Amino acid sequence: MFFSAISQLVLKSACPACGRTARVVFCESCHEQICAGRRSQPLEPSSQQHPLPLFAWATYDQSLRRAIAALKYDRQRTIGDWLGIQMAESWIQYRLHRQYPQMLVVPIPMHPSKQAQRGYNQAELISRSFSRQVGYRHCSQVLRRHRETQAQYSVSVTDRDRNLQSAFSVDPQFKSRTPILLVDDIYTTGATLRSAIQVLQDQQLKPWGSAVAARPFFDIAPQKPPKSP
Ligand SMILES: [Zn+2]
Repeated sequence: MFFSAISQLVLKSACPACGRTARVVFCESCHEQICAGRRSQPLEPSSQQHPLPLFAWATYDQSLRRAIAALKYDRQRTIGDWLGIQMAESWIQYRLHRQYPQMLVVPIPMHPSKQAQRGYNQAELISRSFSRQVGYRHCSQVLRRHRETQAQYSVSVTDRDRNLQSAFSVDPQFKSRTPILLVDDIYTTGATLRSAIQVLQDQQLKPWGSAVAARPFFDIAPQKPPKSP
């Protein structure tokens, strides 16, 4: 009795988003807030912003922002697994696993030196957990990020596409006709995903679209260059 009470105290960890006592991963309040951001129409058809379909699980609001920051900067890897499971549940709920029974899941890679520093790639944690739940094949070695890019928030929107140009390459040994689902943690301008899609298409591979955990409510549209007089 005494020991079980002690072990319960020890096992009760802090919510990575707010510091209160966690229930499973988050505290009840953060869990509810994050899940309240789930999008009722997670799958968007292709558009000018994203040339292929985009699946976005939830709106990038304050609680999800805190959760993803904890995943990236506080070594809270379980959040990556949790997000992958949530995305998979939503994917299955919308019967996308039936519509697309074959998919190869590929995470957006980090630059190797940055990944060595962090110890993991958060997009890979999400994509691995997502593909395990849905029953898709997962491959983290298809794409490589061979150039360090500036942190996306420190460059202007107009510079983002330029910043990402040829940041990725494809493993030359990799050949497949299976549709590829790219996975990332957040969709902001879409520049990262556009760049990865382009590289895959250049190698005659078949990107189908992308899936992300979070997407801001409004598009952050790239600025158009000023019209010349
Ligand atoms: Zn919390």
